[in-house]
Amino acid sequence: MHPTSAPVTPTHCPYCALQCGMGLTAAPGGGVEVVERGGFPVNKGALCGKGRTAPALLSSGARLTEPLVRSRATGKLAPATWEEALDRVADGLSRTRAEYGADACGVFGGGGLTNEKAYALGKFARVALGTSQIDYNGRFCMSSAAAAGQRAFGLDRGLPFPLEDIPRTGCVILVGSNLAETMPPALRYLTELRENGGTLIVVDPRRTRTAEQADLHLAPRPGTDLALALGLLHLVVAEGRTDEAYIEERTSGWEEARAAAMAHWPEHVERITGVPVPRLRDAVRLFCDAGSGMVLTARGPEQQSKGTDTVGAWINLCLATGRAGRPLSGYGCLTGQGNGQGGREHGQKADQLPGYRKLTDPAARAHVAGVWGVDPESLPGPGRSAYELLDALGGDVKALLLMGSNPVVSAPRAAHVEGRLRSLDFLAVADVVLSETAELADVVLPVTQWAEETGTVTNLEGRVLLRRRAVSAPPGVRGDLDVLHGLADRLGHGKGFPTEPEEVFEELRRASAGGAADYSGISYARLAEGEGEGVFWPCPDTEPSYPDPEPSRPNPEAPGPAAGPSSDAGPSSDAGPSSDAGGSPGADVADGAETAPHPGTPRLFLDRFATEDGRARFVPVAHRAAAEEPDAEYPVLLTTGRVLAQYQSGAQTRRVDELNSAAPGPFVELHPRLAARLGVVEDEPVAVISRRGRAVAPARVTADIRSDTVFMPFHWPGEGRANSLTNPALDPVSRMPEFKVCAVRVERARGV
Ligand code: SF4
Repeated sequence: MHPTSAPVTPTHCPYCALQCGMGLTAAPGGGVEVVERGGFPVNKGALCGKGRTAPALLSSGARLTEPLVRSRATGKLAPATWEEALDRVADGLSRTRAEYGADACGVFGGGGLTNEKAYALGKFARVALGTSQIDYNGRFCMSSAAAAGQRAFGLDRGLPFPLEDIPRTGCVILVGSNLAETMPPALRYLTELRENGGTLIVVDPRRTRTAEQADLHLAPRPGTDLALALGLLHLVVAEGRTDEAYIEERTSGWEEARAAAMAHWPEHVERITGVPVPRLRDAVRLFCDAGSGMVLTARGPEQQSKGTDTVGAWINLCLATGRAGRPLSGYGCLTGQGNGQGGREHGQKADQLPGYRKLTDPAARAHVAGVWGVDPESLPGPGRSAYELLDALGGDVKALLLMGSNPVVSAPRAAHVEGRLRSLDFLAVADVVLSETAELADVVLPVTQWAEETGTVTNLEGRVLLRRRAVSAPPGVRGDLDVLHGLADRLGHGKGFPTEPEEVFEELRRASAGGAADYSGISYARLAEGEGEGVFWPCPDTEPSYPDPEPSRPNPEAPGPAAGPSSDAGPSSDAGPSSDAGGSPGADVADGAETAPHPGTPRLFLDRFATEDGRARFVPVAHRAAAEEPDAEYPVLLTTGRVLAQYQSGAQTRRVDELNSAAPGPFVELHPRLAARLGVVEDEPVAVISRRGRAVAPARVTADIRSDTVFMPFHWPGEGRANSLTNPALDPVSRMPEFKVCAVRVERARGV
C-alpha cells in the first residue's frame, strides 16, 4: 500500500466480518491496487494479507466469465449464453415445482452476500418459487450465539457495543477465537486493552497467536466450554462476587441458573475440562476485580451440539457479575463471515423475514407481505436449517439454487453432503470461480464480486457500510441481482426483483421498518457521508417515508420504547466514550422543530434489554458431553479452524498466489507426546479417521495443543478435507453442527 494522487474509491475488504476499510485506485500496470484508508475507524488503515491481496481476485485467471451448462449429451459443463443458462435454471426449478411441489426446490445462500442480495434471495425463494426450503451457510457461522443472545437479551447483534469500547474495559474473556489469525487488525483492540491496564483471558484448547497475548490462557478439552463457564460461575457465587443489585434490578431467572451452576463443583469442572481449579480461581479474580468486563465468543464454543447453552453459560456469567447492558461491559460474538451479521437479518434464514422478523409471527408476515405486494397467506412457513437442507437433497428436495457458498468443502460430513449434491435432479450455482460445488452443477452462473458491484454489508458491530463499485466487471459476468431478476422474470415475477442495489436497499428499508434490525433510517447517501464509517442498526426513520402497510397491527418484535433494545444514548458514566450522543429519535417533532435523523445505535441494552419486561433472562444450563466422545476405536479429539492466509472454504483465497504460497495446504497439528506415541515426525503425512471419513495431511508437531486433541484447518478440498471428518450433530435450538469436536483416530499415512 502506498499514497496515491489518483482517484481512490473508498470501499471494504471482501472477506471477514471486520469489513476493514480500504481504498482502491488504478494500479500503474493496469487493474486496481489497495491504498490505505486510515479514516475508517474499525481498522484505521491496517489490513491483513487477505485484504491487501484482494484485488488479485478481480483479475484471477480462475475467474468465470461465461455461463456453463452441463451438456445432456456429454455430461460435461460447456459454455452457453446467458439466455440459455437462465432458461435452463428456470426450467429446472419450474419442472421440479410442477412435479413435486414448491418445497422440492431449495435455495442456499451465503454470509458473504450483500444485504441486498440476501434480501432478494429470501424474497425470490418465498415469492418467486414459493418454497420454504431456504437457509444459508451463516447457520454454520454464529447461529448458536444468535440463539443465545435472543434467548437472554431478546435481540441478537454480534457486538452490542463498538469495537472501540474493548480497550477501555477492565477484563476481556475471549472464548474460542484466534483473531490474531482470523482478523488480525482487530488484535490491536486487545493490545490496547492490556496497554491500558486491562487484562485478557483467552480460552482455547490451543496456544494460538492470540492466546500468546493473554494474561491467562485456559486450555479446556474441546467441547467443555460450557462446563468451564459453569465452574467460573460457581466460584463467582461461592466467593461472593455476584452483583446482587444488578441481578435484582435488571435480570430474571437467577435462582434457577444459580442452582444449575452450584451443581458444577470446581473439582468436577477440572475433571471435565482439564483446567486446574487454581486457574479457574485466577480467571474469576481477574474478571471480578476489574471494574468492567466483556465476554467475547467465536466459533469455538458456538460450533457445538450444545452451542446455544454454551454461549448461554457465558452470558449467565456476565449477568451474574453485572457485566451486560452497562458502559464498557457486555457479552458479544465475533461474527466470522463478511456479511455474517447482515446476511442473517434480511430473510435468507430458514425461519426469518427481513428486519429479523419471525416467519411464524402473523404481524411480521403481514408487514413483509405488504411490502412485497403479496398475500400474507401465500408466504411459506419456516424451512429446514442449513445442514438439514443439504441432507435432504436428492430426497424430497430435488433442485437447488446456490449462491455464494461452497458446501462441498465447508459443510460438516462433507463427503455425504457432496453425495447429496450429486444426487439432485438439478443444481444451479452462482459464483465467481468454479468452486468444488460449482463443478457439480448443471448450470454455473458467473457473477460479479465485491469491487465490481455496489452494495451494503453489516459488520460484526452491527455497523451498516457501503461497499462501492470500483471497477467494471469482465464482459460476460452479471450481478447476482440480475440473475435473480432474470430467473424471477422467467417464473412470472420479474417486476418485484430490481437489479439496481440501491433500489433493492430502499425496499429493504421498508421491509425492515419496525423490525428488530431496523434499517429504515439508513440510506446510501447517508452511508457515503464522512469517512464512510457507517450507521449502527437499529436506525429507524424519524420521518418515515415508508408507512407500515398495516400500521394498526402491533409488532411484538419492534424495538420500540416499551420493548426496545434500549438506549442509543451511549455510556453515561465518565468512563464512557462521548461520541454517540444518540437521543430519543423524533423528540423534536412535538415542537415542530426539524426532525433530526436517528443517529443509529452503537450501544444496545444500556437502559433495558429487548425482552418484554426489559430484563435480561438467565437460562439455567448444565454440562453435557459432546455428541461424540473418544473411545477405544477413536481415542483422540479433533477440532478445526482457520489459518491466517486462507478464508473459509478457500474458494477465493486458494486462487491468490501470495496467499497460497503462505498457506499452501492442510496440516494436522498434534502434540509431541501424541506424535511420539504414534511414531510420527514433523511433516510426515498422517491420516485422521472419524466415523464419517478420512483425511490425510502433513503432521505439524507442537506443544501448543493439548495432547488429547488434534487440529486441522478446513480450507481445502480433496484428501486433506477436514470436513470429511466433522460431525453434523446439531444444536437443538440453533441447528448449528458440531464442527468443533468429534472423535478420531490418527495413524501414520505413509504407504497406506
Ligand atoms: Fe479483510 Fe478481515 Fe483481513 Fe480485514 S481482517 S483485511 S476484513 S480479511
